[in-house]
Amino acid sequence: MKSVTSLMELRTILERYRRDQLTVGLVPTMGALHDGHLSLIAKAKEIADIAVVSIFVNPTQFGAGEDFQAYPRDTQRDSQLAAGANTDVLFIPTAQEVYPSGFATTISVAGLTEPLEGQQRGAAHFNGVTTVVAKLLNMTSPDVLLMGQKDAQQAIVVGRMIKDLDLTVRLEVCPTVRELDGLALSSRNTYLTSDERSQAVALYKALQAAQSAVSGGEIDGVKVLTTALTAMEPFGVVPEYLSLVCPQTLNAVSVIDRPTLLAVAAVVGSTRLIDNVTLIPRS
Ligand code: AMP
Repeated sequence: MKSVTSLMELRTILERYRRDQLTVGLVPTMGALHDGHLSLIAKAKEIADIAVVSIFVNPTQFGAGEDFQAYPRDTQRDSQLAAGANTDVLFIPTAQEVYPSGFATTISVAGLTEPLEGQQRGAAHFNGVTTVVAKLLNMTSPDVLLMGQKDAQQAIVVGRMIKDLDLTVRLEVCPTVRELDGLALSSRNTYLTSDERSQAVALYKALQAAQSAVSGGEIDGVKVLTTALTAMEPFGVVPEYLSLVCPQTLNAVSVIDRPTLLAVAAVVGSTRLIDNVTLIPRS
């Protein structure tokens, strides 16, 4: 595995691969790698010749009062995990490399960024995400961009940006990797105390309860949401949002007569967690 920090080094290495007609998959991350990230790298190696993993804790996607300073950073551990997952190139740019002085451009996707995470975290969050992803795409010129279903809205917003800007990359959205009890893996899970870790499963329990109601034939959105909320209650976790939305438009859904995204966010202790599942109605 080659580890690089400058754009010039990255481009020099990638040019060589391109000359050899090798395809490239890009996995952008903020580090603190876990099995969710590693599953994206494995998929990159499956569908492309070269896996490029970027690690950049992107300051512009954190709001005031969010955990930018506290976000876990361990480059040595990440490098070992990335190498063990057969990463070809690990790109760890500095903030100066990504946002040189005078940087003044923002990419903003309208509409899709407004509900759910956009409502809770403000417009700047997704502007930060789309701008840094656009930069990483231009830096790497990958054939495939791999992102996780765990951050469903993020993948939908980035998909819209790719389409709207005629970017040639293909977006591959990979399934959510979970702990044995269902908690979605997240770098932020490391913040949880052991009591909070037991409470955190509430999000998955809500999604699971909704899923089993819908597989049992329930299509009434209010009833499904009530079922999901009831499943969370014993854990003492109250969602910031628990919403049924169309997986393409993110518009609210009240009748689950087609595949519908159920998205949830909740603060457990002081840790903000998100999760989602696609509900498939009984045919
Ligand atoms: P992050 O480092 O949190 O910005 O995540 C980098 C990429 O990994 C994003 O595309 C995430 O959606 C994806 N990801 C994070 N957690 C998981 C998970 N549990 N399963 C699958 N993908 C994930």
